Amino acid sequence: MERVYLGLGSNLAEPLAQLAAALQAIGELPQSRLVAVSSFYSSDPLGPPDQPRYLNAVAALNTTLAPLALLDALQAIEQEQGRQRKAERWGPRTLDLDILAFGDRLIDEPRLRVPHYHMHARAFVLYPLAEIAPGLRLADGRTLDELLAACPFSGLERLPVTP
Ligand code: ATP
Ligand code: MG
Ligand code: MG
Repeated sequence: MERVYLGLGSNLAEPLAQLAAALQAIGELPQSRLVAVSSFYSSDPLGPPDQPRYLNAVAALNTTLAPLALLDALQAIEQEQGRQRKAERWGPRTLDLDILAFGDRLIDEPRLRVPHYHMHARAFVLYPLAEIAPGLRLADGRTLDELLAACPFSGLERLPVTP
């Protein structure tokens, strides 16, 4: 069993329902068990500013799936929930499921880079992650505490809703 952390995001087609459906689907993944879910957060959009605010959360999963098998399964859930990949980077989407960390693995493949290459700069990843993985140390040696210290809680709002 390896511990995986997933970042969830949505800003189209009822983000709350999107995240709830995604968590349901993640909970039904083979060889896996959903073990924790953070609070939900509203966040400023990354990239083009002319899009709705995002709803974000982080989930913890125990799994015996291989990393690329998990990525395939997560992309299938994104597709199932109407994700359309456009040329525009960081454009609006019904669902984004990113692998933040996968056990103590360092992965640098064309389809998968872990730890997630940009998580250090994303308050909407780091603060929810801290709720469910306090004291986390990433496979490359960085600690969540040091990433948090360098990433202000800005543009972020913790919501009183749960899935
Ligand atoms: P960002 O990666 O900056 O958050 P994004 O999530 O909008 O942007 P996507 O369109 O969801 O990007 O994914 C683009 C590609 O990123 C995917 O096809 C996938 O193969 C690749 N990828 C690389 N590393 C990861 C990872 N850690 N988690 C999920 N996808 C990844
Ligand atoms: Mg993403
Ligand atoms: Mg993604």
